[in-house]
Amino acid sequence: MPFRITNESIYLGIAILFITAPNIAHIILSALLEDSFAIPYLIITCSFFCLNIFLLFKTSCSNPGYLSKNSSLPEETTGVIEINGITVRLKLCNTCNILKPPRVHHCKVCDFCVDRQDHHCPWVANCIGRKNHREFVMLLLFSTLESAYLIVAELCVAIITDDPPGRYAGEIILIVYGAIMFWSVGGLLLYQLYLIFLNKTTHEHRRRIFGNDNPFKYGCCKNLLLFCSMKAETPASKPSPQINNQIEENS
Ligand SMILES: [Zn+2]
Ligand SMILES: [Zn+2]
Repeated sequence: MPFRITNESIYLGIAILFITAPNIAHIILSALLEDSFAIPYLIITCSFFCLNIFLLFKTSCSNPGYLSKNSSLPEETTGVIEINGITVRLKLCNTCNILKPPRVHHCKVCDFCVDRQDHHCPWVANCIGRKNHREFVMLLLFSTLESAYLIVAELCVAIITDDPPGRYAGEIILIVYGAIMFWSVGGLLLYQLYLIFLNKTTHEHRRRIFGNDNPFKYGCCKNLLLFCSMKAETPASKPSPQINNQIEENS
């Protein structure tokens, strides 16, 4: 998927700025300290910066799990499959001309079907799917940790190590910024962790696709392991063209 110059490029640029600006400000403030804390601050800040930038670009530039398109309609345009004792209906993607396997959804922004599509994220200018979902969650995790670190480190600078006292403008701005990021990114991280333990994607959860009969739910520990491995779900049967009366929706 070639990089597109769209509104998403602007979102991605803002995301890079959100990572870069507070780190540079914190590095400058730390470098001004004539204190033994200065070196640890610099090392921790540079580590968070490199890690978050790496994860941002890894998530943004990875193929999330695009499926190939067909030039013509497949032989079977509908079917059912059994997973974990639950029958799931397979649907046709009229754009890609494929019978979508379970958990595959078509992204209108990317214009491709994406395996285990979670959502399309403008902040990384990419879909979040089977092949980059772990990097996305790691990005949320380390961004939240960095926000907490910024708050604690700048409070320490303002209260303990800043001398003379009273020049706290830089510290206060970074503490407020850290608090806003901790609240917003941390909230998204909690939602993603909630979905991981249910083995649901954002798409499946928001659209209530499986209701209470989620065929991919195996218990918290196994759901977490499945997320870490990102292995494809193994259906109990091959797709069948028969339509069962007790079908679960798989849009
Ligand atoms: Zn499609
Ligand atoms: Zn997409």
